[in-house]
This record gives sequence, structure tokens and C-alpha cells, in this order.
Amino acid sequence: MRKKIIAANWKMNMTVGEAEAFLDTFLLELGDESGVDVVIVPPFTALAKVGERLSNSSTVKLGAQNMAFEKSGAFTGEISAAMLRDLYVRYVVLGHSERRTLFGETDAIVNKKVRAAHEASLKPILCVGETLAERDADRVEEVLETQLRGSLADMSSKEIVETVIAYEPVWAIGTGRVATPEQAQAAHAFIRKTIAMIADQAVADKVRIQYGGSVKPDNAKTLLGQPDIDGALVGGASLDPRAFVEIVKAGASIEA
Ligand code: PEP
Repeated sequence: MRKKIIAANWKMNMTVGEAEAFLDTFLLELGDESGVDVVIVPPFTALAKVGERLSNSSTVKLGAQNMAFEKSGAFTGEISAAMLRDLYVRYVVLGHSERRTLFGETDAIVNKKVRAAHEASLKPILCVGETLAERDADRVEEVLETQLRGSLADMSSKEIVETVIAYEPVWAIGTGRVATPEQAQAAHAFIRKTIAMIADQAVADKVRIQYGGSVKPDNAKTLLGQPDIDGALVGGASLDPRAFVEIVKAGASIEA
């Protein structure tokens, strides 16, 4: 059985004060919910404070939005895995489509980051997904397979099991245009089949695959109810503590 995992990707939003105000409401409304794993992914500048506030929670963990693959040295502006560990970060989002398109991250770069994260005992949330042009050209499976094979290269079965995959169709991110449950389920089933080819069926059965792309309180339950959808990576709606609690509770209400 795969425990659902719901993550809040705040992107370049939230000052430390705003993050604290979010947590005041979110943690109160969440109560003692423990049926799902929750990850809050603030910008780097709010990691320390958010981590402090989450230190007593067994349900809500801390995540980072990116990470360098190098261990240390002359890489101005970069943040290493050890620096994240220092702040009690447990998860790190890697290969988000915004990083791939705006900052030129290739599958080879993402692969180096995913492997560096595992080396430091951080759990990667690896994002994959097709653009609208690729979907229209009927290339969804080809794109997903290329991204998965490239990003998961040279990794052990244990490392793959401990990687969370986020299927994020680029055309659904921040657009309000959500994939239908059928489109999302088909892509997730394909991702699981591909993991079985890269590793084996036992690994594929254990890997958690999140859906991301305009998840909101009113569509979360249907999406999270699909057999191969094990969670959600939420952008816009995760900035509102009440909306994000509703999404978390939708996940918790579904038997995996
Ligand atoms: C994201 O940034 O990962 C995302 C899915 O954003 P949104 O929920 O706003 O589409």
C-alpha cells in the first residue's frame, strides 16, 4: 500500500513572516491528520523558520525547491545537499518544468542532482511531464520515457523506490487547465510501467507518483482517487492554507 504524499510548492512566494502566518492557520486546521505525508516546500529563505515550526510534526515534513549537484566550492548562488540537511530538509523537488525551461536543466543535470540528493539521504521529488505541443503530437509516452530513463540513470532499486515521481503536464501548471482524471491516470500507469522496465515490478509497485498541475480543492478527490495517483504536487492552491488543508484532507479520505 502506498501512503499518499501531498506537497506544497510555494515557488518564489512567501517571506518568512508570510510563511509563519500560513503555518499558524494550516497547522491548526490540519489538526492531528496523519493518514497522508505532507511536505511544505518553501523558498530557501524560509526553510529555517518553517523547519523550526515543523520540528514536532510527524506528518508534515520540510522540502526544498532545488539543489546543486556539487558538494561544495566555487558555485556562487548555489545550495548544496549538506546545507539542506543542516536545516532538517527531508525532500527536494528536482527537475521542475520551470527549472527545465527557464534555467536550462537537462535530464543529465537532473540525474546528477537526484543522485546527489540520495547520497545525502534527501528524498527527491522528480518532476516529469510533456508540453502541450508534445501532447498534441502524440508524444506523451516518448517524452515521459526519455525523461525517466535520463533522470533515473545509474540508480539502485532502493534509490528509485525512495524517489517520489511527480507527473506534471507542463500545459496544466499554473494555467487552471487540469488534466482529466483519465489523462492523468493513463500517464501515471505508463510511468509505473516504465519504472518496472528500468528497475522491476516490485520497485514500480512501491514508487509513489504524484500528479501536479492546477490541483484545487474541488478536483483533488477525483484525481487522488485514481489507482496510480499517489499524491499531489500543488503550486498555486498551496499558498492558501485553507485550500491546501482541503486538498490534504481529500487525500486522507481516500483508501490507497
Ligand atoms: C507546480 O508548480 O508544481 C504546480 C503544479 O503548480 P500549479 O498547482 O499552480 O499548477
